[in-house]
This record gives sequence, structure tokens and C-alpha cells, in this order.
Amino acid sequence: MEDNIKQSRRQLLKMGTIAIVAAPMVGFTTTASAHQNTAVRAALKFQDHPNGDKHCAVCMNFIPNKDKPNDPGHVHGCKLYPGDDEICPNCYCNGFVHKP
Ligand code: SF4
Repeated sequence: MEDNIKQSRRQLLKMGTIAIVAAPMVGFTTTASAHQNTAVRAALKFQDHPNGDKHCAVCMNFIPNKDKPNDPGHVHGCKLYPGDDEICPNCYCNGFVHKP
């Protein structure tokens, strides 16, 4: 009986240690993926370089300066990528539609 209690206590300590070690990693993962919509990126085969002369800057879905419309800043988005603010002007994906 006492052996069982000691063993349970050891298991509890192990679980606590794992939780303490894993907690910061969970936070890191959430932060690292906060600005990229990885599901849509995978579905539309997003790439960080142009496809010939096709690239985000000339695509109808591109949202330049998403955070500050009147400021030529660095944060760009795309109508097809909710929550993603790391779309670069020279990127490309299968959702490309050339501006008229
Ligand atoms: S649909 Fe694709 S190519 Fe067009 S702006 Fe969005 S990410 Fe870029």
C-alpha cells in the first residue's frame, strides 16, 4: 500500500516536471505561429518567392500595409489568409488573381 503511494507521488512529480518544461514551449509555438495562417498556406501552396511574373504585389487579393493603410510599413496581408500578416509582396500562392 505504502509502495503504491510512493509510486503515485513519483508519477505526480514527473508529470509536474513535464508540465513545467512544456509550458514555455506551448507559449513559444503559439507566438511563433500567431501571424501566419499555416492551414491556408499549406492548402494554397504558399511560397516566399514569385512564380515568374506572378506575385502578391500584383494580385487582387493582396492587402498592402494591412496594419497602417497610409503608412508604407512592413505588414501586409491577403484576403484569403485571415489573421496572417506576413504576406510579402514577392510571395505567391495558388490563389493568385492578376490585378486588371
Ligand atoms: S492570393 Fe496568394 S498570390 Fe494573391 S496576395 Fe494572397 S498570398 Fe499573394
